[in-house]
Amino acid sequence: MRNAETSSGKPDPNLAVTYSSSADPSVRQVIETLQPFKALSPEARVVIKPNIVLSRKRWLGANTRPEIVESLVVLLREQGVHNITIADGSGIGESATRAFKICGYTEIADKHRVRLVDIDRDRFIERSTLTDGPFSKLALSQTVADCDYLINVPVIKAHCQTRVTCSLKNLKGVMPRQLKSSFHGADLERAIAQLAALVTPDFVLADGTYGDLSSELGGKPVNLGIIAGGRDPLTVDCFAASTLGFSPAAIAHIAHYARARGVDPAAFQPVLHELNHPSGDRVFETDTDGFRAYPCTVQLGNTCCTCHGNLRFALERMREARVLSGEDHYYIGSFGTAAEAAGEKRAQQHCRAHRAIAVGDCARAAVSPPAEIAVPGCPPSADAIVRAVRNAKAV
Ligand code: SF4
Repeated sequence: MRNAETSSGKPDPNLAVTYSSSADPSVRQVIETLQPFKALSPEARVVIKPNIVLSRKRWLGANTRPEIVESLVVLLREQGVHNITIADGSGIGESATRAFKICGYTEIADKHRVRLVDIDRDRFIERSTLTDGPFSKLALSQTVADCDYLINVPVIKAHCQTRVTCSLKNLKGVMPRQLKSSFHGADLERAIAQLAALVTPDFVLADGTYGDLSSELGGKPVNLGIIAGGRDPLTVDCFAASTLGFSPAAIAHIAHYARARGVDPAAFQPVLHELNHPSGDRVFETDTDGFRAYPCTVQLGNTCCTCHGNLRFALERMREARVLSGEDHYYIGSFGTAAEAAGEKRAQQHCRAHRAIAVGDCARAAVSPPAEIAVPGCPPSADAIVRAVRNAKAV
């Protein structure tokens, strides 16, 4: 992993983003674009740190999907790297060894002959913290501390306490169980920023394919169809916050971490390199039902899963902030086919009776007369949707 000196200062804002739920070829596209493994020696000790929270199946929104980690292993092997370890500790009260098995990691490790380390059973070394916060020292997994190259592979998902969890919070898994518990009794957000200043990954690949809507534990997965990679954890986490409907500066651990590096979290903007276009592959059926939980109407056209998922996260944020209304009628996707033309016609009638909100470039073009609130973007982030609606209602 990078040492603190090389990870301080100006963040690398570049982020490669693909819109697909398939690890292959998305992971390859991200890696070929950013070339993070180019300088890796074949002898390098590489650790891949996924987010393994619970003994849950891969599609439930809690854990990093193993297919994504497997794609990384294949690409590292193609580069000639042979010393690869997948390592994580699980959530409190769980067993990473068991979770590895249930989620599919044991199978991958056997297939590619990579080492699988349950960090809860690892040795630990103490390191002094470098930034202000509740801890003067932190204990870190020996496996992680000794590696030459650390790849952090978090899930982009909501968290019940910190609201967003991605690469910064995923680092908690490199500590012993007792210390992980102590974080929750301390100032959690500052403690995460302290940890992130101490453990800097060389590359972050974020799994935004099935992250959970409201909790780190999964159970309400939303298909966003996003896989994004970057060299800087701040860049990746700002993107994750925005994807889930938050301003990055409003997420305390991201803001603390940014400030510790001398970066204004409100001014920092990731630079997105979108490697493909969102596709029309539809989410699984239950997601359509998911919209019924909100006190507003959603009219779906032909929608890409990313746009669909971003609207789910935006509605959840607005529900929490109590800004949703029964008067609001959201339109999303295109209404171009013959079967959907009838829907478009209904949309026109609704426009007159309700507040019409067109989400994304397709809906903006399809809704007529023009929607009262139109959110541009292809796809628009959840944060952009929330801001557009809140700003229009504030007028
Ligand atoms: S605006 Fe249209 S094409 Fe773009 S992501 Fe949304 S539904 Fe897909």
